[in-house]
Amino acid sequence: MSDDTFIENETACDCCDWVNTIPPMQHNERLRCERCKHPIVTVSKKTAQLLLANSSAAIVLFALSLTYEFLGFSSNGITQQISLWDCINALLIEHFTALGAIVSVTLVVLPLIYLFSILLLSFSLIVKSKHHRYTRWLLLSLETIQPWLMVDVFMLGGLVALVKLKSLAEVSLGVSFWAFAAYTFLLIRTVCYVDKRWLWNQFFGQSEKIDIKQKASSARNQGLIGCQFCGALNPSTNRTCSRCHHVIMSRKPASLKRTIALLIGASILYVPANLFPIMNTTFLGTTEHSTIIGGVLLLWALKSYPVALVILIASVLVPIAKILSLFWLCWQYHFATDLPAIKKQKIYHLTELVGRWSMVDIFVVAILSALVQLGTLMNIVPGIAAMSFCAVVILTMLAAMSFDPRLVWDISEETKVDESES
Ligand SMILES: [Zn+2]
Ligand SMILES: [Zn+2]
Repeated sequence: MSDDTFIENETACDCCDWVNTIPPMQHNERLRCERCKHPIVTVSKKTAQLLLANSSAAIVLFALSLTYEFLGFSSNGITQQISLWDCINALLIEHFTALGAIVSVTLVVLPLIYLFSILLLSFSLIVKSKHHRYTRWLLLSLETIQPWLMVDVFMLGGLVALVKLKSLAEVSLGVSFWAFAAYTFLLIRTVCYVDKRWLWNQFFGQSEKIDIKQKASSARNQGLIGCQFCGALNPSTNRTCSRCHHVIMSRKPASLKRTIALLIGASILYVPANLFPIMNTTFLGTTEHSTIIGGVLLLWALKSYPVALVILIASVLVPIAKILSLFWLCWQYHFATDLPAIKKQKIYHLTELVGRWSMVDIFVVAILSALVQLGTLMNIVPGIAAMSFCAVVILTMLAAMSFDPRLVWDISEETKVDESES
C-alpha cells in the first residue's frame, strides 16, 4: 500500500449517526454515508499544497481589496469613492456600531482567522512539523468559524448595491472590487478543500480502534458517540473525545428546546424587521424611508427584475421558509409523518445552506450607507429595521445549528422498532 493511501477507522455520520467503515482511500475519492449519502470524507490530491496556495493567495488579495477603491460614484459633479476599509470604518464610527461590528467580524476577523489557520496547518503538513500546541486549537476553530464566513454573501451584496446605485448616479468599479471577487473565489476554493476527518487524521493519526459489535446500526444503538469535531468514534462512557479532546455528547443537549426558543425570537423580530425602514435616503432635503418590501418594489419599478427577485427571495422568502421548516422539523420529533427521514434531512440541509444568504440586504445597506454620504445633497443611513433583520438572520442560523439532524433518524429508528415489535 502506498504512502498516499488514507487509512482511518470506523466513523459515525454527522447527519444520521450511522456507523460507516472507511476503506483505504486513494486520491480524488469521496466516501458517502451508507444510510443518508451525506459526504463522510474526501481525499484530494496534494491537499496540503492546494490549501497553502489558495489560502496564501486569498490573504494577499484580501489585503489588496482593503487598500484600494472598492466602489465609486458621481452625481451632480460630486464624486465619492470608498475602499472596503472606509465602508467598515464608516459603519463603526459614524453610523451603526453594532452593524459595523457584525460586518467586520463576518468579513474581516473570521475569514482572516480561518485563512491564517489553514495557512499554518497546511505549511506544518508540508514541512512535516505537526506537533504544536496550537494545532488542536486551530483544527477545532475551523469547524466553528466556517458557517460564519460571509464573504460570498457580501460579494452578492456589492453587486446588488451597484444596481441600486446605477439608478441614482454614475457608478465605477475600483481595483478592490475585482480583488475582492478573486478573494471570494479563492476563499470558497479553500473551504472546499478542507475536510475535517482528513486533517485530524494527518495531524493526530487514526482514531482509536473501537470494537463494532453490530454492523449496520447507529452509534447510539451500540453505546458509542461519534465526535462532531474530528469524526472519531468513542465509547459512550467517555466525556471527551479520545482524539480531539473536545466534549462529546450523543445528541446536542436540549436541541429541540433551544431551536424552538431561537425560532420564537427570530419570528418576533421578523415583524419590526419588515414594518420599519431598513434604509433612509435623503435627497435634496427630503428623506425617504424604505422597508425591505419597499426596496423590492422600487427595484421592480426600475425594471431591475433579477435583483428584485434576489432581494425578495433572500430577505423575505428564505427567512420565512427557514423558520417554518425548522418549526416543522421540531414538531416532527413528537408527531412524525410518513415522510422518509432522508427527505427531512434534505429539508434541514437546505435551510442550513440558504439561511446565510439573507444577510445580503444587510450588506447592501452597509455598502450604500458608507458610500452615499454627500451631505445635504444625498445621503443614505441604515434604518432601525437593519439591526432587527440582522438579528433574525443570526437567530435562524443559530436555530439551524442547535437542531440535531440525528434526531430525525432517531424517530425513524424508533418507528421501525415499534413496527417489528407489533
Ligand atoms: Zn448518514
Ligand atoms: Zn473528536
